[in-house]
Order: sequence, then C-alpha cells, then structure tokens
Amino acid sequence: MQLTYQPFELLLKHTFTIAKFSRTSTPLMLVQLTHEGQTGYGEASMVPYMGESHQTATAFLNKVDVSQFKYPFDYPAIIAYLDSIAPGQPAVKAAVDIALHDLDGKLQSKPCWQMLGSDPLKMPVTSYTIGIDTKEIILQKVKEAEGLKVIKVKLGRDSDKALIQTIRSVTNVPLYVDANQGWTDRQQSLDLIYWLQEQGVQLIEQPMLKTDIDSNAWITEHSPIPIIGDEAVQRLADVDAAKGVYHGVNVKLMKSAGMYEAKQMIDRASELGLKILIGCMSETSCATLAAAALAPQCDWADLDGPLLTVNNPYQMPLMVDGKWVLNNGAGLGLNDATSNYS
Ligand code: MG
Repeated sequence: MQLTYQPFELLLKHTFTIAKFSRTSTPLMLVQLTHEGQTGYGEASMVPYMGESHQTATAFLNKVDVSQFKYPFDYPAIIAYLDSIAPGQPAVKAAVDIALHDLDGKLQSKPCWQMLGSDPLKMPVTSYTIGIDTKEIILQKVKEAEGLKVIKVKLGRDSDKALIQTIRSVTNVPLYVDANQGWTDRQQSLDLIYWLQEQGVQLIEQPMLKTDIDSNAWITEHSPIPIIGDEAVQRLADVDAAKGVYHGVNVKLMKSAGMYEAKQMIDRASELGLKILIGCMSETSCATLAAAALAPQCDWADLDGPLLTVNNPYQMPLMVDGKWVLNNGAGLGLNDATSNYS
C-alpha cells in the first residue's frame, strides 16, 4: 500500500465568523492510498483553532508506514498505530482513516455506508450554516440556503437576537444554533434559549465554555430544547463524560480521527441515550461523503462543507430535499472524483 498526499487550500464562499474567530480559507491535506490497482481518497481539514497545519500534517504523514500491516484494513491496529506516532492531530489521522475506508470499500466493491451498517433511507436533512455577519450578507446567505431544510446559525456575540430576527424576517425554516462557547452567564443563556425556542430553534450547540461543566449541565437540565456538546466532545473517551452534561454530542470526523472512531462514538452515545449530531469542518465532497456514510445512524446532520466552499476538487454529491444521497458506488461513492487538484 502506497501513501501520497498534497496540501490544498479550500476557499470559503464568505468570510466565516463564529464567536471567537474569522477566516476566508481552510488548509486541507488530501491523502491517497493505493493498493492492488485501487486508490482510496481521504482528507484532513485543519481549521486553525484546532492547531493542525500543512506543516504538522506533512511531518506526521512522513512518519506513517502502513506497509507493516499484514492485513491493511485492520482498523483497530492501524488507528492505534497512528495514535502511537503522535498524540492529538486528529484531522491528519482522519485523512488516513477515510482513505483506508474508501480503499477498503473499493477492494470489496461495497459502499462505505453499507460496510458501516447505515440505512440510506434514514438520512437526516443537513443544515446550512450561516456565520456571524452584517444584515446584508446574512440575507444574501439565507437566499443561498434556499432549498435547504434547516439553517444553522452561529451566535455567541451581543447581536444574537438581532441576527435571528433578521433571518426570521425572510424565512421560517427550522434553525439550529451554535454558540461556540460564546455565552458567559447561565441564567441569561437560559432566558435566551426560551426566546430561541419561540423562534423555531431546535437545538443549541455548546452554550458555554467546555471547561464550565457545571453551567453547561445546569443549562441542559433546564433547557426546553436539546443542548449538544461540540468543543467538549472530541474523541471516544469524551462521550461518557458528556452524559449528564449535555443531551447529545456532536461527532465530527476531524475530531474523532476518522470514520472508525466516529462509529464507535455513535454506538457509545446511543448506548448512553445521548442524541447525536454529525458535523463537519470546511470540507470537500470526500470527507462529507465519509460523514454522510454514518449520518443515517445520527439524529441530525450538519454536513454543509461543500456548500460553503468554492474550489471543491471533487464532483458535488447529489442532494435531494436537503439530504445527501448515498449512492451505490464502491467506497465513499466519490466515483467521479477527479484528481484535478492543483
Ligand atoms: Mg459547533
């Protein structure tokens, strides 16, 4: 098995502002694994606040030698091996994991969603994210979201109510809210959550700092709508800790180090009675289809990466009625993926 990779800069349609950061592009590492004439594609999306970069990913990938595995799809052994190379760096590990799944599916002539036990008919609608912005840009973004069934709004600044009112002046679609740890007072947060419920908000992500477990747990106890831990929930070990603090967890491949552990997180969250949102970073069709392969096992999906970017190097997956369509192509179903990255 041979591993190759290329750095890539994924450009965003709009400057993206959340509670604590702004950016216009996201560095990716595109990974290919080749074995017996087939190629599996993977991708790392390295949003700056997570601490990974082209440099750290290159240094990591230079150390990866998958040829030592007798059976190249022994996922537990390979994931343990990747974790043994360096701690952290979940995005670059996810890139290798996604490429392995794609390759495995291609060699077995099976779609990844089938290998992972998903039912394509249970695909949830995906939300379309709108960052913090001026009124004019917000209205333009809502227009771009036409046809999408849910809008996810980034809050966590002083203008929260005004932003929701702007959106509500033009659309009645259900909303998800992501505070990105931006709220600072639990009672004020709860008052706002009751108001948001009246505005048709269906879930709230990460209201307060992930380290403020008491306040997040208090909000969860009192909230009329589900509270989801995102920044607080990175890998499998964090799922157990979310019980009693949040109603649910946000699973993302770029946090979980890929599809293998994301599936374990989904299974564990289900066992614990936690709700599951599957989310993404700024991603191409590749990582989006990887997450979509697991999305039917989740309550909600927020897989809008390819909708928010302008230079996706792959063909856009099919979306019908606000849901990604899982196709019968082998592996990720990225069958028309071209290697036209520059
Ligand atoms: Mg979030």
